[in-house]
Amino acid sequence: MRISGLFQQGRPVLSFEVFPPKRDSSIDTIYRMLDELEGLHPDFISVTYGAGGSQADHATFDLANLIKTRYGIEPLMHLTCINYSREEVAERVRMLEESHIDNVMALRGDLNPDLPPKHDFRYASELVRYIRENSGLAISGACYPEGHVECEDLVSDILHLRQKVDAGCEHLVSQLFFDNNLFYAFLERARIAGIHVPIEAGIMPVTNKKQIERMVTLCGASLPTKFAKMMQRYEHFPEALRDAGIAYAVNQIVDLAAQGVDGVHLYTMNNPLVARRISESVQSLFAAAPA
Ligand code: FAD
Repeated sequence: MRISGLFQQGRPVLSFEVFPPKRDSSIDTIYRMLDELEGLHPDFISVTYGAGGSQADHATFDLANLIKTRYGIEPLMHLTCINYSREEVAERVRMLEESHIDNVMALRGDLNPDLPPKHDFRYASELVRYIRENSGLAISGACYPEGHVECEDLVSDILHLRQKVDAGCEHLVSQLFFDNNLFYAFLERARIAGIHVPIEAGIMPVTNKKQIERMVTLCGASLPTKFAKMMQRYEHFPEALRDAGIAYAVNQIVDLAAQGVDGVHLYTMNNPLVARRISESVQSLFAAAPA
């Protein structure tokens, strides 16, 4: 099943992102997490990819396979390319097709000073084109409401995104953001640039101040004053911070749904409790399709 087809149902799509467990995690922990997520009926679950190394590959493949075969939920497997040769990418594309995993998120991956890039793929659009020309996989990609950290200006960033879509990317998932107005301005730029594929809004509930600060430093998302104040006030009260983070995410989602967003991608951080509380709060909004 191609994920882009899900957006024709006339209601917003709700999807989750999970990451492969650490090597020493027990399989029961994974089952418990997926058992809980399954009960929330996501439209699909995406699985992140650790850059480089066959162990990282296998962990992602195994989890995507498990989501498909044991839970019957559509997996979207992430794949990065900056540290791979053409042959290495070909091998991974073959593995996906052999496992009947139909959807791949084609990513460049972050530049890592300790892992020199291989030069077959410089940008995600080159990976998208390669996958489109060499497989029948459905291709998703990443986008950045506030611009990608490396890009000098928003116009160039959106033109690069257009290249990625023209190369064959049929669905986009956004980087996390905490101010919906930034997302709406981005959507407008994207539509003006002729990007008409479904764009899901990436929402990350804050449950831990340090973790959010690290993410924000890495991805360049800005923190609205009211969000920063919330984290500051409750940083030493984990339960209160979690509740405030869930309420903030729910508020963002209610507004997005009311504005007719294509879908919401919840960065679950492998925390099914938080995913459950958010999903249950917005369930009826996702079921309600406008007449
Ligand atoms: P690209 O689309 O290639 O963009 C990268 C930069 O290059 C941008 O600044 C862009 O403007 C610029 N650019 C693009 N084309 C050109 C061109 N022709 N000329 C000049 N400049 C150009 N990382 C992981 O390691 N594993 C994951 O599982 C993962 N999942 C992610 C999921 C989502 C939803 C998002 C938003 C990010 C994810 N990332 C992941 C992080 C991602 O790998 C990094 O943000 C990376 O730095 C960029 O990847 P990209 O695919 O967006 O790259």
